[in-house]
Amino acid sequence: DPTVVLALVTERGGPTSPTAIIARQLAIPCVVGVVGALAVPEGGDLLVDGTTGGVEVAPDPAEAQERVLADRARREQVAAWSGPGATADGVPVKLVANVADPESAATAGAEPVEGVGLFRTELCFLNRADEPGVEEQAAIYAEVLRPFTGQVVVVRTLDAGSDKPVAFATQVGEENPALGVRGLRLSFDNPALLVRQLDAIRLAADRTGAEVQVMAPMVATVAEAAGFAGLVRERGLRAGVMIEVPAAALLAHRMLEVVDFLSIGTNDLTQYTMAADRMATDLAHLTDPWQPAVLQLIAITAHAGRQAGKPVGVCGEAAADPLLACALVGMGITSLSMAPAAVRAVGARLAGVSAETCEEVAEAVLGATDPAAARAAALLVVERRG
Ligand code: PEP
Ligand code: MG
Repeated sequence: DPTVVLALVTERGGPTSPTAIIARQLAIPCVVGVVGALAVPEGGDLLVDGTTGGVEVAPDPAEAQERVLADRARREQVAAWSGPGATADGVPVKLVANVADPESAATAGAEPVEGVGLFRTELCFLNRADEPGVEEQAAIYAEVLRPFTGQVVVVRTLDAGSDKPVAFATQVGEENPALGVRGLRLSFDNPALLVRQLDAIRLAADRTGAEVQVMAPMVATVAEAAGFAGLVRERGLRAGVMIEVPAAALLAHRMLEVVDFLSIGTNDLTQYTMAADRMATDLAHLTDPWQPAVLQLIAITAHAGRQAGKPVGVCGEAAADPLLACALVGMGITSLSMAPAAVRAVGARLAGVSAETCEEVAEAVLGATDPAAARAAALLVVERRG
């Protein structure tokens, strides 16, 4: 079928830019930031490896065929994994889905996930000029919640702004939108926007059997977390905040005094820790969650969760990396939320390692001084210990 998209290759963009996230959501192999991609001649063969990021123009046909077959065998192994998420010695790790709208929620509901760890509500409204009323929002959210009766669904309030412009919420003409009024900050000037959304989420929760929890994006201070949690709890729902700003990670233990759970958004946490735009092609080596400084902040946050006895999840793209998932679990992360297409690969990997091995992997990556060394150290532990 000539209309089927087998893979995406782009000249610009980074691994956590929306193109890559949406491709992962659709299970389409995608390699971004490929210098020279636009110069590839039309009509020839191209071998695209979405796992390693390799793109080969005019590959040797026999070799290409062999790699496609090997990939198929690996995929079959992964496809056989059916959950629930746990290490080889039976320590549970909640594997949950990132969803964007009713369609992706329906897809996720058919996968072996234990609910939703991140519902990006703003993605429902990218093409809306005006804010939908409470009733209309409630109807959309209820559609998303419906496949998850009896399961936890974490709804994130509007993360409009910066790279996700929403016409009715985003401020126009900001000098530096990634450091501007985005996420929870939109409610500073316009608290009614947040209140209407929370009312709609409450209504949707009432109409479905999902166990709804609500979290805020782009939280920087404990006061912001406390104010948000108050509004959510007034509506009888559990409240959390995302850890996306280094300030919030460093104060994770104080955040946990005022909220029920934390969820680490590694895409933004990496961007803000490394001071590198997640969309910048030239900075992709910095916007890598394997950067030791990012791993330290994740470890600090996970440790705070263990101390407080409260759940700390990861919902950025880092959660979809099977090897990194082992390190995250070893640090004390209790749930991993990802595009449904990634769940089986992560589940299969975790099923092959013990909790103790995960702790060794965590220790190894935290001792590394660059991403390549961290990856190599993790691989060494996993291959030696299984
Ligand atoms: C993140 O920043 O890691 C995250 C999950 O949020 P988003 O990618 O929607 O900014
Ligand atoms: Mg984010």
